[in-house]
Amino acid sequence: MCGIIGYTGKSNNAKEIVLTGLKNLEYRGYDSAGIALTLNNKITLFKSKGKIVNLEEKLMDDSINSSTAIAHTRWATHGEPNEINAHPHQSGKITLVHNGIIENYLDLKTYLIKQGVTFQSETDTEVACAYLNFIYQTQKDKLKCIHEACQAFRGSYAFAILFEDEPEVIYATRKDSPLIIGIGSEGNFAGSDISAILDYTSQYMLLEKGEIARLTKDQVEIFDENNAPIQKEIKQATWSATEYKKNGFEHFMLKEIHEEPSVIEQIFHSHLADETLQKIDFSKFQEIHIVACGSAMHAGMVGKYLFQNYTKIPVTVDIASEYRYNTQLINEKTLVIIISQSGETADTLAALRLAKQEKATTLAIVNVVGSTIAREASLCIYTNAGPEIAVATTKGYTSQVAILSLLVLNAMKQKGLLSKELEQNVLKDFENIHSILNQVIKNDTIYKAIAKRLYQQNDIFFIGRGIDYALCMEGSLKLKEISYIHSEAYAAGELKHGTISLIENGTPVIAIATNDKLFEKTVSNIEETKARGAYTIFITTDNLNADSFESFSDITVSLPKTTDFVQPIVVVTILQLIAYEVAKLRGCDIDKPKNLAKSVTVE
Ligand code: GLU
Repeated sequence: MCGIIGYTGKSNNAKEIVLTGLKNLEYRGYDSAGIALTLNNKITLFKSKGKIVNLEEKLMDDSINSSTAIAHTRWATHGEPNEINAHPHQSGKITLVHNGIIENYLDLKTYLIKQGVTFQSETDTEVACAYLNFIYQTQKDKLKCIHEACQAFRGSYAFAILFEDEPEVIYATRKDSPLIIGIGSEGNFAGSDISAILDYTSQYMLLEKGEIARLTKDQVEIFDENNAPIQKEIKQATWSATEYKKNGFEHFMLKEIHEEPSVIEQIFHSHLADETLQKIDFSKFQEIHIVACGSAMHAGMVGKYLFQNYTKIPVTVDIASEYRYNTQLINEKTLVIIISQSGETADTLAALRLAKQEKATTLAIVNVVGSTIAREASLCIYTNAGPEIAVATTKGYTSQVAILSLLVLNAMKQKGLLSKELEQNVLKDFENIHSILNQVIKNDTIYKAIAKRLYQQNDIFFIGRGIDYALCMEGSLKLKEISYIHSEAYAAGELKHGTISLIENGTPVIAIATNDKLFEKTVSNIEETKARGAYTIFITTDNLNADSFESFSDITVSLPKTTDFVQPIVVVTILQLIAYEVAKLRGCDIDKPKNLAKSVTVE
């Protein structure tokens, strides 16, 4: 969500550098873009609605060259996506780009209007810009001015700021929105994440809440909340620029699905010995709360089934934005598992802080190293899935499920609940996971045939019980996100308590039945939909005889049978592929679905 890139350096091609950065940040989601360049000591703005190419067209003129620029891709929160609302915003001597929300912008705006300030846009950002300018009129020390203004802002922000009287210096600060500082041999950077700068440098610093970075062509200075200069650790990026490229695949999403066999194999092999994982003493906890948003919450649902079924530890799964505002019974005996691919999800971060305040042990499952959630949680396990660029998560989700499986197995071991036989079967699955997932991915006739049957439909249902229901939630979300077809996921037994009335002749119902104990019950529910004309797609496992399903199944998918600790990953892979193929047949913008953002950094 939103991308910020700022560059000041020795080279005169700040324009190209920040445009490259913006393109690398595209995956985060945006609706308009803009850039401020210092040209002949004057700060000039260029903005456009829609894709970055529109902005590029305005910057074609070769005479537009500069050594300092700040740029932004906006994901509108306040005011529609148009050129006026696009960033950068300018007020008096201040030009800035912003990620986040200034929650008290209306109060500040009213105050500033009374002081004679006028506004062009509908954004909260312009108010922040005007407020900074207002403070700067009396507080000429730039660091003090930024601190004083930020004291007045409620909400979240990452800012890259230019002052008119020092137009080749970038100031940057943040609170609850991500921002890193890049250090290059030819110049210095501020960026929303490492992808923004990786084409130019792999060295970076993390900026903490309230710290201010001052970037010049050849120097980076960081100041704490008292304006005292501080030394920061310089980190080395672990992901390379090529990992951010499609590498021959038509879409990032397809590339990331194809990476799942290696990513999951790597997790099962390397994380078995993960120190943090080993360290968690489950005997200390009376209950587990899993808190997350979107697909990560669906991964949490899988975790709940596994934890409760195999360890008997009570588990609740909550949507982060709900968790914070309902009374939670949390104490030192609660383990709160926080799941977020980006580690910057605003609602999830807020839930983490609430849990910490109530003295729970917090365990983060995060992909992005050094992200805010990873840093703030008491324990963190990285999924190490590599950068995920497609907005709709695939390997991000399956890697979270894989970590949850390992946690459950660990808890079982500690409680003496893991039988030798089960352990051996699980280890066998771990050994074979690469070839199992490859087998699913390579069998493209089946998921392409299903996609052909689905892509012109208006409504699709997913049904399943137990873990399969959690997988239905994820399969349905994936389909909705990228193909824009309406779909519903139902616990199979629940359909008849209402929405079975929506099943008509030919309505597709995708039923998942991988659990032996629940198999017959789910089959009864499929029969119920079939009796009402549904077109049924039955996803099950190859230990069962598919011939016997012909009476109720129009298309049957027989996936490799594994233990419960691996089966969800196998099933979800084909659901991801079905969603991908459907979206492709519909000509959708698969990697960047409309209105969605990758890293949801606002609440
Ligand atoms: N709230 C700001 C706006 O609507 C910033 C949104 C963003 O993070 O892109 O302009």
